[in-house]
Amino acid sequence: MRIANLSGRLVLVSGDRALDVEVASSGRFAANPQAIYERWAEFVNWAKTQDASAGSVFDASALGPAVPRPPQVFAIGLNYASHAGESGLSVPENPMVFTKFVSSFTGADVEVELSGDTVDWEVELVAVIGEGGRDIAESDAWQHVAGLTVGQDISDRTVQFWGDPAQFSIGKSLKGFAPIGPAVVSLDEVDAVADRSDLAIGCTLTRADGSTEVLQNGRTRDMIFPIPTLIAKLSELVELLPGDVIFTGTPDGVGLGRDPRVYLQPGQSVTSEIEALGSIRQRFVPRRLPA
Ligand code: ZN
Repeated sequence: MRIANLSGRLVLVSGDRALDVEVASSGRFAANPQAIYERWAEFVNWAKTQDASAGSVFDASALGPAVPRPPQVFAIGLNYASHAGESGLSVPENPMVFTKFVSSFTGADVEVELSGDTVDWEVELVAVIGEGGRDIAESDAWQHVAGLTVGQDISDRTVQFWGDPAQFSIGKSLKGFAPIGPAVVSLDEVDAVADRSDLAIGCTLTRADGSTEVLQNGRTRDMIFPIPTLIAKLSELVELLPGDVIFTGTPDGVGLGRDPRVYLQPGQSVTSEIEALGSIRQRFVPRRLPA
């Protein structure tokens, strides 16, 4: 099962077709794509009886953030040893956690304004929580995951490294800096085509002249703290809530880690893709200052 946020409405997706959940369920489930995680088990059972390929053709530019207003957003820094190394930072003993404020969430195929000349890319696997809880055992953790999706942890490195200690949360929460989508893919659908613990993950730059460059190309098996460990460690400390999301960190290949450093320019776009989950794309434009 794939679910998405089409113009603010919850849909089931199959290929290029989408079935409106509120209409198909005769109002049993609301249109709000965020509300469904409160009734996740009930929704999954209903969705099994539906055929999304009977829905209408849709355009990716109408996709909003697959999870639009998570109650809590966790993001993990330095969760791949290769990325910690390129950042000049040591591998953490415990997950390094920050947040991306929800006002930064955006859709799967969008324009993003560059806040300055040090804006960087970070493709990330995003886990979406179904049933929440505290003190979730690592062995039970996958049962608390509603699905997986693709995210970009776009980062203004200047703001991120204002002062000491650094300010990860604000530097990664500017307008449009948290695209996620195109859909939340259930674990059974991932398992049918791939290994949920070892997905190919990467992103590619397209320049204004049409030339392309692979920026990141990794495997999620290289996470220092895999998703079950993150859920266990986070839920020891805080209650996980239905519809929370976890950005699980980025592999190596970011602009900050290059010599010389390279950052995004207006007119460029980045396509981020994860095996079994699909891809998202941002087109970068100059900051529009208020008149
Ligand atoms: Zn990140």
